[in-house]
Amino acid sequence: MARRKKLYEGKAKVLYEGPEPGTLVQYFKDDATAFNAEKKDVIEGKGVLNNRLSEFFMKGLTQIGVPNHFIKRLNMREQLIRAVEIVPLEVIVRNYAAGSMAKRLGMEEGTPLPRPIVEFSYKDDALGDPLVPEEYIIAFGWASQQDMDDIVALALRVNDYMSGVMYGVGIKLIDFKIEVGRVFEGDYQRLIVADEISPDSCRLWDIETGQKLDKDVFRRDLGSLADAYTEVAKRLGVLPSNVTHAPKPTLIN
Ligand code: UDP
Repeated sequence: MARRKKLYEGKAKVLYEGPEPGTLVQYFKDDATAFNAEKKDVIEGKGVLNNRLSEFFMKGLTQIGVPNHFIKRLNMREQLIRAVEIVPLEVIVRNYAAGSMAKRLGMEEGTPLPRPIVEFSYKDDALGDPLVPEEYIIAFGWASQQDMDDIVALALRVNDYMSGVMYGVGIKLIDFKIEVGRVFEGDYQRLIVADEISPDSCRLWDIETGQKLDKDVFRRDLGSLADAYTEVAKRLGVLPSNVTHAPKPTLIN
């Protein structure tokens, strides 16, 4: 295939020009970063796993009518997606206290919340993605009130879907982040789920043991990240038989 034009490179993914207008190619890298990229590593096989897992979740969302950017997987690391105008927010849904919420409020991680809580951070690495109230979002014009109502509804549908899918394989969905993008159809704009849904952007705990199966394994040095993601992929039945993070073949003399 001809070399494609790179449009954007982020911490975990690269976006290339797509084959048709309105499409992009999303490439999943093996790079892992945490704490606003202060901690970095290359985790062999992570990109392949996240490509498959994001495909699995986005296809499931499509099946239950939750609009999203996924079109089709192209190969081990790439998928074809719809080009969107990203809303500059990280939309976080929490079912149990963890991470920054647990810290901020002095709560024990894993405490169930009275109901799912949706919160927003402004996407700006230089500022460390600060938590922002809805009032700021509307006042600064990052999204309208109607957009925010749609975004909350989308986020809660994703939460119900993801919680159910995970519960079915013995995993508790503690919290997750999605990004949302605008697509324009004639005079109308629609908001759809974009970016990725993978263990990089969720907290996933084994129901029985509480074992962490998400990026906290990397953030907190709890063991092999690739093993954790492989476990999630295996339980969901999405691990292609020929893909593991096994070491590269070595030459036998
Ligand atoms: N999250 C993410 N990207 C970010 C920040 C958070 O994907 O830049 C996810 C994170 O993996 C977790 C949820 O959003 O599943 C809530 O994260 P939190 O606010 O607790 O922040 P953290 O403790 O990860 O800094």
